[in-house]
Amino acid sequence: MKIYDLHCDVLNKLSRYDDMEFLNDVRLDSNLNGLNAGNVKVQVFAIFVHPNVPIEERFNRALLQVEAFNKYVITAPGVVHITNWKQIQELKDDEIGAVLSLEGCDCIGTDLQKLNVLIEAGVKLVGLTWNYENDVAYGTLEDQTKGLKSFCKEVVNYLNEQDVILDVAHLNDEGFYELLPLAKHLIASHSNSRTICDNPRNLTDDQVKLLVDKGGRIHVVFYPPFINNKEAASIDELIGHIKHLVNLVGVENVGFGSDFDGIDYKVDLLTDASQYQNLMKELLKHFTEEDVKMMSHQGFEKYVFSINA
Ligand SMILES: [Zn+2]
Repeated sequence: MKIYDLHCDVLNKLSRYDDMEFLNDVRLDSNLNGLNAGNVKVQVFAIFVHPNVPIEERFNRALLQVEAFNKYVITAPGVVHITNWKQIQELKDDEIGAVLSLEGCDCIGTDLQKLNVLIEAGVKLVGLTWNYENDVAYGTLEDQTKGLKSFCKEVVNYLNEQDVILDVAHLNDEGFYELLPLAKHLIASHSNSRTICDNPRNLTDDQVKLLVDKGGRIHVVFYPPFINNKEAASIDELIGHIKHLVNLVGVENVGFGSDFDGIDYKVDLLTDASQYQNLMKELLKHFTEEDVKMMSHQGFEKYVFSINA
């Protein structure tokens, strides 16, 4: 069954190691061979600049990741750069769609021009924060009661104009609630249920329902600490989150965002992109084939084909 995966951190690795091969490097969880083996048909590649990078170097690091995407990912055999969502429909059997996203606006400071450069490069989803405070908002590890900053309005207005999806995955609670009425397109690209696993990176039932009411959707993440607050987890435990979310908002609004290459701890038998079908096999024990297809790709298609960009 084909998969659309909304989050991986391949670019951060590719941009840091000169000798790394996107095709088959064993240091990459989501190398091209693995994506093909796991039948990942569309992969979103995040630009992520770690907070330990000095502020003045952050934008340059983001550009290096765009360069890695252009130089190694979309030139690889069969990889198509998705710059308009409609292109997903036209992918041939032996092709994979590659999408750029931005995980946190830390690298733009208060400069909308820098954001513009990244959108022009093809970024289709933007998260306002990673885990910490920046000039736009507060991340999940900050005070949950602090709201969006004044510069955020400019950022969101600009992204709405460009029909870019706002990603709430790392946003704190107050920021989430304040963003809901402002954003044109919303998604949680790699988040689980806070009811099943009480972690600030996960969304409460109230948040998930409001997100879907606003036309958004949630994609579950394969990181054990967000599945059970431990360093190891089983596919069954991940399915516990999926079942809960499906009961809450329906199969059409739930998908996957592995976070491969951004995580040190892995789900057993789901440790890299090549093992994706192990999850499909287990899901088919709990859901109909129709429902699993809805989660693996059809739900996202319905969502994204309504976006005219
Ligand atoms: Zn993340």
